Amino acid sequence: MKITFYGVRGSCPSPGKDTVKYGGNTACVLVTAADGKKLILDAGTGLRKLGNDIKHKEQDIYILLSHNHWDHIQGFPFFIPAYLREHALHIYSGHTDLNHDDAILEQMSKSFFPVHHRHLQAQIELITNHQKQFKVNGFNITRYNINHPGGGNAYLIECDGTTLAYVTDNELNTPGKVKTTVAQWTQILQGVDLLIHDAQFMPSDMPLKSGWGHSLAKEAVDLAKAAKVKRLVTYSHDPERTDDEIDATIEQLSSMQLPFTVTAAQEGLTLSV
Ligand SMILES: [Zn+2]
Repeated sequence: MKITFYGVRGSCPSPGKDTVKYGGNTACVLVTAADGKKLILDAGTGLRKLGNDIKHKEQDIYILLSHNHWDHIQGFPFFIPAYLREHALHIYSGHTDLNHDDAILEQMSKSFFPVHHRHLQAQIELITNHQKQFKVNGFNITRYNINHPGGGNAYLIECDGTTLAYVTDNELNTPGKVKTTVAQWTQILQGVDLLIHDAQFMPSDMPLKSGWGHSLAKEAVDLAKAAKVKRLVTYSHDPERTDDEIDATIEQLSSMQLPFTVTAAQEGLTLSV
């Protein structure tokens, strides 16, 4: 499996001189199996470039959404394959508290956007059955509930004998309603080859941002350690977080002599597992 990051920010895009290294686009990851089959995780603004990269290569395109917060769907109206009739898009929605499976399309309606989604030329299939386990384009997927305002899903993705866990917008120690406990996450993520986990906040963000649905990098590291994962990628960087601050966090975590590698998600980075 190859994992390529197209957008690594949480909340809102953050271009500028302080975010050049890690990138300013919001959530979007491309997963490619050994046989070339592809799966897109989330449709944040990183999806725009991904669309340019695959528009001449992929006919059927599979998108798996964690939830409908804007930073996870905002790239879709700028996804060129949606405008081309040779493509078929298969979009799997996350299971949110308020059922709103068509939010990704609805943002292209009313006064939100100049092109209505009905005028998109691609065939669009919205899959909304929210099964716990399902198969998408050769990938075996299991869905888990994140601790996040409004709900949504994390996914275990198995292919080629390896397992990737995509756990974004998850507050491990939430003061709110706990959907999945740290003990349950530890069991779910046991031994995964690559864990992509939310690490949006720093201790200085607390207590103000407690309950906003994101974790500290240190909490993600503690979980990765308990679950004996093989590699951790910190994800959903805060839009205010500078490249220097992300570098300093990774340096500090790496100095803890962890039994696994910690990497910060970075636009353009491809990892093989
Ligand atoms: Zn969110």
